[in-house]
Order: sequence, then structure tokens, then C-alpha cells
Amino acid sequence: MHKKTLIAACLGALVLIVAVFASTRYVLAHSFASIEADEARQSLERVRQGLEMELHQLRAAAEDNGHWDAAFDFVTGHRPNFIAENFTRSGLDTMRVHVMWVGDNAGKTLVSISTRRAATGKLDELSSDLLNLIQKYALTAVPPDSTIAQVRLLRVADGVLAFSAARVLRSNYTGPSPGLLVFGHFFDQALIDRIEETSQSPVKLILLDAHGRAGADVGDTVARWLEDPPSDTLIQTNDGETRDSYLMLRDVEGRPVAVLANSVSHAALKLGRRTITWVVVALLAGFALLVCLLLTTMNRGWRTSAVARRQSIDQQRKFSRLARRDVLTGLPNRVYLQKLLPRLIKRAARDSSRMALLYIDLDHFKNVNDSLGHAAGDKLLTAVAHRLRAAVSAHDVVVRMGGDEFVVVANMLPNAQVVNSIADRIRRAMVVPLDLDGVSMFASPSIGISVYPQDGTDTEQLLKHADIALNHAKDRGRGNHQFYTPEMNARLRERFGLERALRQALERNELSIEYQPCFDLQTLRPVSLEALIRWRQADGSYIPPSRFIPIAEQSGLIVDIGDWVLRQVGLQLSEWQRQHVPLLPVSVNISVQQFEHVQLASVVSVLADELGIDASLLHFEITESAAMQNSQQHLGSLQALRNLGSRILIDDFGTGYSSLSYLKHLPIDTLKIDRAFVRDMAVDSNDAAIVRAIVGVAKSLGLQLVAEGIETAEQLECLRKLDCECGQGFYFSPPVSAESCRAMLWQLRGPPRAVGDTPKLRLLAPTT
Ligand code: C2E
Ligand code: MG
Ligand code: MG
Repeated sequence: MHKKTLIAACLGALVLIVAVFASTRYVLAHSFASIEADEARQSLERVRQGLEMELHQLRAAAEDNGHWDAAFDFVTGHRPNFIAENFTRSGLDTMRVHVMWVGDNAGKTLVSISTRRAATGKLDELSSDLLNLIQKYALTAVPPDSTIAQVRLLRVADGVLAFSAARVLRSNYTGPSPGLLVFGHFFDQALIDRIEETSQSPVKLILLDAHGRAGADVGDTVARWLEDPPSDTLIQTNDGETRDSYLMLRDVEGRPVAVLANSVSHAALKLGRRTITWVVVALLAGFALLVCLLLTTMNRGWRTSAVARRQSIDQQRKFSRLARRDVLTGLPNRVYLQKLLPRLIKRAARDSSRMALLYIDLDHFKNVNDSLGHAAGDKLLTAVAHRLRAAVSAHDVVVRMGGDEFVVVANMLPNAQVVNSIADRIRRAMVVPLDLDGVSMFASPSIGISVYPQDGTDTEQLLKHADIALNHAKDRGRGNHQFYTPEMNARLRERFGLERALRQALERNELSIEYQPCFDLQTLRPVSLEALIRWRQADGSYIPPSRFIPIAEQSGLIVDIGDWVLRQVGLQLSEWQRQHVPLLPVSVNISVQQFEHVQLASVVSVLADELGIDASLLHFEITESAAMQNSQQHLGSLQALRNLGSRILIDDFGTGYSSLSYLKHLPIDTLKIDRAFVRDMAVDSNDAAIVRAIVGVAKSLGLQLVAEGIETAEQLECLRKLDCECGQGFYFSPPVSAESCRAMLWQLRGPPRAVGDTPKLRLLAPTT
């Protein structure tokens, strides 16, 4: 080739490089910018969905409570106690209601409640300003004959209030409606946090003044948009780092009241620029080597551009996949589920097939994080995700909703019965022990199930009902699954009623205590008693502790009830002591809140002094899961009790996640094996193996062992063979009244019944 031709070819090649560079940069910059604009739009859409979910919950709560016969009777004057019976502070907090107003059709206020500035557990009245606003707007927001609640926003003195107004109707929607029920929720940080959880990107609330201007500095573009908004959304590139998007919220009169701001990072554009630079470097290198082969080089340039375009599409796919995936487990997330469910529902409707939502929560998962650290918690969650995926069929969807909550959507079901076996399969897959850095662990799930179409025909209903069923499963002792039934809704209301009744149970003398003896399994002599609370209501109905203790714990009533139990047991011991009844130590069950609210050891020592009894006669049982809530304060309280001579027992052992290394740091004396293991140990070799392992743990840590729930001679025999020291259960005696217990203690004055007088039997000697 001639030199001139070569120079011309080189120049031509250079021109081509510049052209390729410019065109590639142009194409890529545009496609990345459009990916990011898309991403910002999607992100803003997720913010909007998050807000809509919040407002929907408020609407559902207003409809539930407004379309209720009891509410109807209240507004028509036939049920004056309706509010006191059904609405407590904790009930309103559970429903996330800050404001409640009920009025008649003329706007006359019948109920005016605010929780905003009220102290914990207390209720306040609405301020006159807020009351005026609600009276002005609520009645007109919802037509007199409407069965649908309306949600609107209001500008209030220090922020924004979302309110939902529902006509008060009978539950069969017959009218005419005598009034209106309004629930309100302030835009607070908790609400923004929940929206962030749904949108999976940072969200900020910007309040606007009465002229629609932002109080804070928002920059020129946003300020101009606020002055004259062509639409209610704005997407803006900000300092090359983030792309910010804004969603305008309007009040009941259509005036701008606040803006939700959301930002996504500019990572895609930066990546795009970096990609272009590398493309050009590659081009130059290629041209320098093959400068004479113009044609080949051109080909390469076009090919590189095609690769870059493909990369951009891959990148786009990756971004939208990431937004819908949970980072830890790789499972689809809540956002994905919200998008997918309507499609699955449509398909199920078209095929007339059934579909089930299984809402799964891991019992006591918090204990794993607390005792073994977050890394172990993450490992457990990842393992659970794999097991869930493996336990269901390929066309079922497994989603991580956040924290320790998962949802399985089981599709194309021939009938509702198969859901039972799916839930069983999931539970079985979870209980197989898992090795977490040398600690053996298993997850026990509680599952709530809703089935399409009978339990709901849209996403919100199905999720809400599965969640209600899940709460029910937890109330029933966890580790089980429950199908949603309409009565569960009613039960939720009944639960509020029960809390109120429990508040009065102490004053009305409805509580009492029974005692169950615990036996030495070798000598078959009783060695201690357990105090168990009983609640018999004035109408004779009996409420078991498994039902009211969780309510007492959630409402904080357990502190007063626990004090009462301790005092009753103290009084009983001192009475028996006066009557020279041979005394046995009595175990009292205590809840975690009792540690948190009172200095238990000083209460016990003052009580023992006052009543003239030995403090070491009082033992304390905490459940394994409570013991796992390891804080220095708790450990200190337990140690202080032991310093008084009291013993500490870990109740329901085997149902939590205790590890050996963790147990040995606890100041405890005894483990009580949960009765679930004892129940089947004579027939189930797995349960027998667990009990054998627990005996080993207790021995290696020098702890005493008690088996709970012994009901048969076979179980007793099995436990004796395994060398378990003590036990209690219906086989020996059910819990009995103090009177019957006293008779039993008297009988013990006779000679020992079996060989082997253990040191514990010395406690039987009457204290004179
Ligand atoms: P827990 O402390 O594990 O008490 C043992 C439970 O098993 C008691 O139920 C007892 O009646 C029952 N039980 C005993 N032997 C057998 C048996 O052979 N078979 C069967 N199936 N059950 C047996 P209860 O009295 O209904 O109490 C349930 C739980 O309520 C207790 O479990 C305890 O956690 C809680 N609880 C009871 N009293 C109090 C209290 O005063 N304060 C607190 N915080 N919790 C209490
Ligand atoms: Mg107990
Ligand atoms: Mg127990």
C-alpha cells in the first residue's frame, strides 16, 4: 500500500473513531438516562402504592367499625357503653388510629378521641380546631347512603392528617344511616418508615404552607413546580448523584398540602459513562493495531456498539429485578407480590381454580438475633428461604415480606384441602435442625392462610385475612397453622373486650390461684408446688391463662396481676406456716415486663419480711423465650433473686432457641422440659431423643431437670429411665385449690413412701 494511501487511511480511521465515539456516547447516554427516568418513575409509583396501602388500611378500619350493629345501636342511643367496651388505647394503637370521631347526621359530636398528645395508655379529646375541621369536611366527604368509606387529607396545625369517614350502618348495610364514624392518622415518621419499606428507597415528607410553598429549602426547580404544577409528579436530576422525584398530595379541597420526595441513585448513568470510556479505549487500541484495515475496524466499532446496547438492556432488566428481589434471600419481595397477585387472581378467576396465601412468621426469631447475633439470624433466614422454596412446587411463589415474615402463594389448587398438606409440609421442612456455626437450631413457623375466592377476591383482602389468621395461629400457642374464618374478625373485637374485662377482674375478685405439685421421680414424693393463676368471670365462665396472659402482657396489665399473684402466694405460705402445715417451695410464673417495671428482688424480700416467711420458699419460672431476651438488667434481676435463696427455673424448655453456650451464662437452677416433648416421647423416638439430649444438657451444666405434663405411667417410666429428676402432670395431680393442696401437704407428714430420702425431702419437715 502507498504511504499516501496509508496516511489517508489513518486519517479516515481517526475520523471514524471520533464518529463512533460520539454516536456510541449519544446512544448509550440516552438509553441510560431513559433507564433512570424509568427507575425514578417506578420508584415514585412504589411510594404511591405504599401510601395507598396505608390509606387503604385506614379505610378498612373505618368500614369495619362503622358497619357494625353495635356502632349503629350506639349512635341511635341504644348502647351507651359501646365506646368504653370496645375502644381502648392499645386497640386504637393496634389499628394505627390517632383520631376517632363519631357524630350524628347533624354534625353533633358523640365521640371525640385523640391519642396524639396523650400519655401512653391514655386517651385525650380532640382539640377544638381539629374538631371543627372534621365536622366541616367529614359529613360532606361521604354521601348519606354510601357503604364505602372515603379517605381524604387535611392540613392541620402541625402537619397532615389522613382521615377516613364511614357511614354508620347495620352490618347487613340496611339504613338509613344515623351518623358517621371517622378514623384519622397523622403523617408521622412511622408512616413514612412504612412507605419506605414498601418503596425500598428513601422517602421524605415536605409540608407545604397555606400558599402551597415548601417550608424547607427545596431548590429552584421544585419551587417553580410548586408555584405552577403542570402535573402532580415531578422528576428531577440532582447534582449528578441522585434523581429525585416528587409526589404532590392534595387536601380535601384539592389544595396542595404536602409532597412526598423520593430519590434514586444515579448509578446507572455513571456506569454508562464508564462503559463508554472503556468502549472508546478498546476502539483506540483496536485502531492502533489495525489502522490499515479500515473495514475490519468499522465492523468492530459497530459490533462494540451493539454489545453496549445489549449491556444497557441487561442493566435495565437487572435494575427492575433488583427492585423486586430481597437482597438477603434472593426471593421476590413485597413489591413483587403486590404486582403479581392481581395477575394470579385474574388467572384463578378465569380458570375457576383456587389459590391460597400462606402468611408465615418464624416463632421467637428475635431471640436468635438477640442471643447469637445478626449474622446467625441472616443465615437462619437464608436457610428458611431455601427450605420454603424446596417445600413447595415450582409454580408456587415464595416471597419474603421483610423481617422473619414470608408468604407462599400456592396456585392451581384442585381443592382447599390440599392447603393443609402444604402447610404441614412447610412446618416439617422447618423443624429439621440446622447447623449455624456449630449451634444446632430449628425454625418453628406460625402460618395464617387465606384462600381465593372464599376469603377474598383482591390482593388487600387476601393479605389482610391471611395476616389475621396468622395472629390467630400465634395466639393459639404458635407453631401451628390456621385458616382464616370470618369469626376471627369478631374475635379480634372480642379480644379488646377481654382486655377491658381483665382490668376489672382484680377488683371484682375474679382471679384465684391453684397449686400443682411437682414430684421427685425416684422417691415419688412431692418436692415443690407451682402456682397457676385462674380467672373465673362473674357469670361463671372460665378463661384459661393461655388466653388472657398474652393479653395481659400486651396491655401491661401483667405487672399488676404478677404483683397480685406473688402476694397471694406469700399470704398462702404464711397462713400454712401459721397452721404448721409442712411447707414446700412454691414456683411463681413471671413475665418479662415484671422485671422491667419493678425491682423484683426487693419486692420479694420486703414481702417475705412483712409476712414472716423465708424468701427461699419462693421460686420463679420464666419461659425460655423470655430468658433469651438477654439484657444486663434481666440477668441482674435474676441474680438478685438467687441471692435471696430463690431458685430460677426455665419454663417450657426446648421451644425456644437456646444454645448451650448461651444457657451457661444465665443465672438459673432448673430446666422444665416442655410438655410437647413429654407427650409423645413414649411413642415418638424423635421426642425421646430430644428429652435425652435435654437431660444431657442439664447434667453438663449442673442444672436440675423437671418434666412437665406427665399424663401416663409409660411417660413416667420413660423419664425415670432417662434419669430425669423431677416431674409434674395430671398423672400425679392436676392443679388444685389451696384448700386441697393443704390437705395433701398434711398427708405428707407420714413416713417417706419410697427408698432414697433425697436432700429435697428435708423441706418437708414442718417449720415451727
Ligand atoms: P406453665 O407454667 O408451663 O404451666 C403448666 C401448664 O400445664 C398449666 O396450664 C397446667 O395446668 C398444665 N398442665 C400441668 N400438667 C399437665 C398435664 O399433665 N397435661 C396437660 N395437658 N397440661 C398440664 P395453665 O394453668 O393453663 O397455664 C398455662 C400457662 O399460663 C402456664 O404455663 C404459664 O406460662 C402461664 N401462667 C399461669 N399462671 C401464670 C401467672 O401467674 N403468671 C404468668 N406470667 N403466667 C402464668
Ligand atoms: Mg410454669
Ligand atoms: Mg411450662
